[in-house]
Amino acid sequence: MTSGSAGSGTRVAIIGMGPRGISVLERIAVHAADTGRRVHVLAIDRTEVGAGRVWRTGQPDWFAMNTVAGQVTMYSADRDGGPDRPGHGPSLAEWLAEHPDPRLAAIGPDGYAPRAAYGRYLREVYGNLLDRLPAGMSVESVTGHVEAVRLGTDGTFSVEIASAAHTRTAWADHVVLATGHPLIDPAATMRDLERHATRHPQLRLLAGDSAADMPLDSIGPGETVGVIGLGLSFYDVLLTLTVGRGGRFEETERGLRHVPGGGEPRVVAGSRSGLPIPARGVNQKASNHVHSAVVFTADRVRAHRDETDGADAPLNFRRHVMPFIQAEIDHRYLTLLVRDTLGPAPSERFAELHAQYLENGQPTGPLRRSFGLPGDATLDLEALARPFAGRTFTDPQHFRAALLSLLRADIAEAKRGTLNGPIKAALDVLRDIRNTVRDLVDFGGLDPASRRDDFENWYVPINALLSAGPPLERSEQLIALIEAGVVTVIGPRARFTAARQRFVLSSPDVFGARVEATALVDARIPQPNLRYDRSPLYRQLLADGIAREFVVPGVGGHAPYPTGGLDVTRAPYRVIDRSGRAVPGLYALGLPTEHVRWFNQIGNGRPGLKTLFLRDADAIAEAIIAAPAAQAAAVKELTAVTPIATADVDTDRVAATAH
Ligand SMILES: Cc1cc2nc3c(=O)[nH]c(=O)nc-3n(C[C@H](O)[C@H](O)[C@H](O)COP(=O)(O)OP(=O)(O)OC[C@H]3O[C@@H](n4cnc5c(N)ncnc54)[C@H](O)[C@@H]3O)c2cc1C
Repeated sequence: MTSGSAGSGTRVAIIGMGPRGISVLERIAVHAADTGRRVHVLAIDRTEVGAGRVWRTGQPDWFAMNTVAGQVTMYSADRDGGPDRPGHGPSLAEWLAEHPDPRLAAIGPDGYAPRAAYGRYLREVYGNLLDRLPAGMSVESVTGHVEAVRLGTDGTFSVEIASAAHTRTAWADHVVLATGHPLIDPAATMRDLERHATRHPQLRLLAGDSAADMPLDSIGPGETVGVIGLGLSFYDVLLTLTVGRGGRFEETERGLRHVPGGGEPRVVAGSRSGLPIPARGVNQKASNHVHSAVVFTADRVRAHRDETDGADAPLNFRRHVMPFIQAEIDHRYLTLLVRDTLGPAPSERFAELHAQYLENGQPTGPLRRSFGLPGDATLDLEALARPFAGRTFTDPQHFRAALLSLLRADIAEAKRGTLNGPIKAALDVLRDIRNTVRDLVDFGGLDPASRRDDFENWYVPINALLSAGPPLERSEQLIALIEAGVVTVIGPRARFTAARQRFVLSSPDVFGARVEATALVDARIPQPNLRYDRSPLYRQLLADGIAREFVVPGVGGHAPYPTGGLDVTRAPYRVIDRSGRAVPGLYALGLPTEHVRWFNQIGNGRPGLKTLFLRDADAIAEAIIAAPAAQAAAVKELTAVTPIATADVDTDRVAATAH
């Protein structure tokens, strides 16, 4: 289906029409309106154009967002009294409030919408864009899988799209890769378990995709199923296997109670920490809340590095960055502890003095003590993320009791909120400071060993566990399921092995914790890694040398670190080819670029703020609208130095009808 009319003009292919692709389209429409440039966009998605895979509209309502509705918008600016159109429109909360379905209208700005509802909002945004395109702009919506993008010597791209009915090739001057979460080859990451499942056809190993996209209906009632991972996707699996099997939760005086539907399997789950992802604090922040840093700024971190190791030294995350992050978190934590014990006025005084001490680099122990706190009081992230580390449990009941009491304590903290509760408010700082972290670590900002060991293998998982949790209702449901005997958490340092004709789950820290299962679900959201990516498109881009893996260069005796991410330039995020040159006209944003630019798991802008989500899309749209002539010149220069594969299009396979 084509909307609008462009005639001859710049041709753009956007691959992936989830939130990132829609955002680029919105900004192209705004820039096209401003400049009068003619542009034709091919909007391609293999799942659902205008919603995407994560937010597809057909999924059950028990899959919920974990961002509150008031903090979500897809428009680059709020409503302005005119019609909803490229540039202006309602936030998700405003859209929900006007919704005819009373259950959706009741969600409110601090509530969590079903993912399918956000998908319907996205579809409406997409529809509004198409209905109100500027003169000279057209959009063709194509449901299909892009299997290859080839660069011709004239600087244009051929885009090979396979759909249910046929394969077609389209030509584009610009291609935007907004492909989101990868599909990972499970054999690459779980080879032994995969082999075991292949040898024993009665076993099922479900892995390499989001839980919502896995065939969980193959797990029978009463069957024992193992689940790897206790993060956000774990809850998707749980709800599918319980609420999705006719079960429900009932309010009682003691909390929620699970009422079985009869179709539930027995779920046994585990992870390295043994801790289900803690709940998010109840939101108390306005959607346009901006954190004002007390001590953690990129300039301070770099100055500290200059002083301690010299200006030429690469940044080390633990040594140079983490002390400032810890101080920033502790400032919020301690201030709220003082408020709890001494009241608001002393807490304000403490905050003022503590900020001054930090600013001057003075030891803060004496100040803490003078306000009744232990001199070394701190919010220990490691202890919060690994509460069972070093502990052993006499039997599974012992661990179960410890886990339930920890979950209940976490819910109590979450209820105190993101501004008032000392722990959850301090952990929310981890979200507030993401842009400063990005400033320091992006584009190879850390030394390669520190990038791998301190950042990717330590900070990133701890940060995700402690600051990206689900609404507290999920923890309440988990408690009900554990109490009902439907769910067992096996214990810390969970092991998943194969024995005879079963999968085996065990924990070395819980005496007697060993369970056999006939199905195993990997509920970890696959991380981007080009080496394990099943996508024919990325395999082809790498094979043709139009793209390459991002490698943190070796410095000061540290070996280079190949990250598995797609290499891109700074804004407008052009893809970098095998020889290290930016490919004019080829852009990538979001998840595929995760290792160059940290934290792309964002599917929305925020009302009233020019967030990075919006700015990323805008930079690409602006470059596309400004580029046509410049791009052709740049391609000539590029091809003169580095021959790039010519277009290799099988014209016999071409059929030019879009869906
Ligand atoms: C289960 C789950 C829950 C999440 N919940 C939240 C949340 O509550 N809040 C939040 O902010 N973030 C959440 N996220 C993070 C998520 O990354 C973002 O919200 C958002 O979806 C990212 O947008 P995107 O457009 O980059 O990627 P996606 O939404 O993944 O969209 C990319 C699209 O590209 C398509 N595609 C990929 N390759 C091709 C190809 N070769 N040809 C054609 N089409 C292709 C895919 O089908 C997909 O529709 C969640 C992620 C997952 C997996």
